[in-house]
Amino acid sequence: MDKDSRIYVAGHRGLVGGAILRRLEEAGYTNLVTRTHAELDLTDQLAVEGFFAEEKPEYVFLAAAKVGGILANSTYPADFIRENLLIQTNVIDAAHRHGVRKLEFLGSSCIYPKLAPQPLKEEYLLTGPLEPTNEAYAIAKIAGIVMVKSYRRQHGLNGISLMPTNLYGPGDNFDLESSHVLPALIRKFHEAKMSGSTQVVVWGTGTPRREFLHVDDLAVAAVFLMENYDDEQIINVGVGEDVSIADAAALVADVVGYDGEIVYDTSKPDGTPRKLLDVSRLFAMGWRPKFDLRRGIADTYEWFLAHVTSAGNC
Ligand code: GDP
Repeated sequence: MDKDSRIYVAGHRGLVGGAILRRLEEAGYTNLVTRTHAELDLTDQLAVEGFFAEEKPEYVFLAAAKVGGILANSTYPADFIRENLLIQTNVIDAAHRHGVRKLEFLGSSCIYPKLAPQPLKEEYLLTGPLEPTNEAYAIAKIAGIVMVKSYRRQHGLNGISLMPTNLYGPGDNFDLESSHVLPALIRKFHEAKMSGSTQVVVWGTGTPRREFLHVDDLAVAAVFLMENYDDEQIINVGVGEDVSIADAAALVADVVGYDGEIVYDTSKPDGTPRKLLDVSRLFAMGWRPKFDLRRGIADTYEWFLAHVTSAGNC
């Protein structure tokens, strides 16, 4: 990518796309193309086609997706499979037909089989059944991976697929019904602290383990891999270590300054017991994350205080 290459970031209002856009700007890329959801509905094939014909992007970061936490995924599986299949099909196909030089597709660590050995190596894809709470989302992402690979094989599309682990950071969704665990806990502990409540409810048993990657670290990896990775094989992006939900909750409580009780609601699902990525292929290329979890949570809490609470949403 040259500094003046025409680069389209699909999903720039989202957690991932927003971070990639910030990273590209920081790195001196000047010819960036974006569209809000209101300006371009990526589930509309004709609209996507028209956009590519008009804007002719040379590089595409496909970070647009319908995403959500464990409850949203298990409650609205039809929306998750439909919207993701449409968005990625339209964008990947248009990228091929309009001569895009390179496309980067963002997947997820939930594509791996629920009971695959840990840490999860890229080659474990499609070796066993998926975690039921996010099967629809995972199947859509797997279809995207196979689509990128197939367009490479049949049409020569230069496409790569990244599998980030659980992401969090500035710009996250803090809605308690649809968010992922870290933003939910930041909000819950903050609200308990402010209201003087002595109990915070954490879903599940607290024993599942998750690996958390700050979205600014993902963005650095996404630009780095766009510039340096050309393989057909998917590539994992993570930090290489995980924590239990109970440990994550204790850490968030500490950062936020909540010292009350933490109780577990075991009527809520745990989801997959563990999904730690094997990041040895990415680490061998020299990339490392910069945020440790405590600093990342503190950074996200700061963003929450500035953007969510001040907007009167809290
Ligand atoms: P997952 O990684 O796809 O399972 O997605 P989540 O980030 O939504 O959930 C991760 C784990 O955190 C699951 O075991 C949840 O049950 C647990 N968890 C605990 N409290 C919460 C909460 O308040 N919100 C969410 N989304 N998850 C929670």
